[in-house]
Amino acid sequence: MLLKLKGKGGQMIIGIPRTLTYYAYLSLWETLFHEMGCQTIVSAQTSKGILDKGVEFAVNDACIPIKLFHGHVYNLKDKADFIFVPRLLNLTREKTVTYCPKFLGLTDMIRASIPDLPPLLDFRIDLREKRGLRYQEYQRIGDLLKIHPHKISRAFLKAQRQLVSFRKQIANYGHPEKAIGVLTGCPDIPVLQDNVITLAVVGYPYLLYDSFVNAGLIQKLHKMEIRVLTPEMVPEKILTGKAGKLPKDLFWTFSNQVVRSAIYYIDDKRIDGIIHVTAFGCGPDSMVGKLIELEAKQRTVPYICISLDEHTGEAGVLTRLEAFVDMLKYRRDKA
Ligand code: SF4
Repeated sequence: MLLKLKGKGGQMIIGIPRTLTYYAYLSLWETLFHEMGCQTIVSAQTSKGILDKGVEFAVNDACIPIKLFHGHVYNLKDKADFIFVPRLLNLTREKTVTYCPKFLGLTDMIRASIPDLPPLLDFRIDLREKRGLRYQEYQRIGDLLKIHPHKISRAFLKAQRQLVSFRKQIANYGHPEKAIGVLTGCPDIPVLQDNVITLAVVGYPYLLYDSFVNAGLIQKLHKMEIRVLTPEMVPEKILTGKAGKLPKDLFWTFSNQVVRSAIYYIDDKRIDGIIHVTAFGCGPDSMVGKLIELEAKQRTVPYICISLDEHTGEAGVLTRLEAFVDMLKYRRDKA
């Protein structure tokens, strides 16, 4: 079947849902598709409308990020020629880890639950695979998009380099507020003084940097003049080095990043406390949260966990943050 392409001059438009891998890998995806000669469009900012659509289409017991993913895919339904729903297994070459199992089944979940979508671009990405197998995947995608697989292979290498330099840029910002500005897409965050209360706020990127889903948690902390440090600000090499602090690694890429960064910040002693942001019903976080809590307790670092779901409201989050920050100020005054 011939598609009538939606892009300018007959270019193909690839829709990218603004959640899950978007916040960690947007620079990778955009470079990949632009190098392949495609236009990209990102779904709208998360809103109540997008969440409601996600709740309508996703299975009831899914975590909120998975529900939101459904809503963001729906938002792209009439705007893109293909919607990018990757089967993301491993981007790190660490042999024993994958992404959360819910990421792995996303393509099937979306196909089964939302009717009348444009074709899904279900790129399988597993850097542990042998080169030949990866090339077979480029061929499959190349057939779908009518692009030579060599072009996809070259585009992927360029996109990986772009991702490495983006990560270095985030980790090397002198001011954490500037890094958060880039990660959240709000560059105008004022830079705070050096002696303010500092918190490590750890969690998955799609929870930390989507201000709708977390009820503006990071913005609220900035308003209270609290410095926020997040996992993305820790250089990758340091995170890998922290792996040895645990008797055993977790099985999931983002979970390891969260635990390792929490350990880094606790070791680093610059922080006054730690907030773990999690999604209600998240399987991997039942281990991640406990590990961080135990480590923080052992080192007497104040810790709270904020759990998010579709009923999370601004007032509830603000009350918890205010109580935590008041306790930290009291602790500092007493020291
Ligand atoms: S890691 Fe947790 S929050 Fe993220 S998709 Fe998996 S279950 Fe949901």
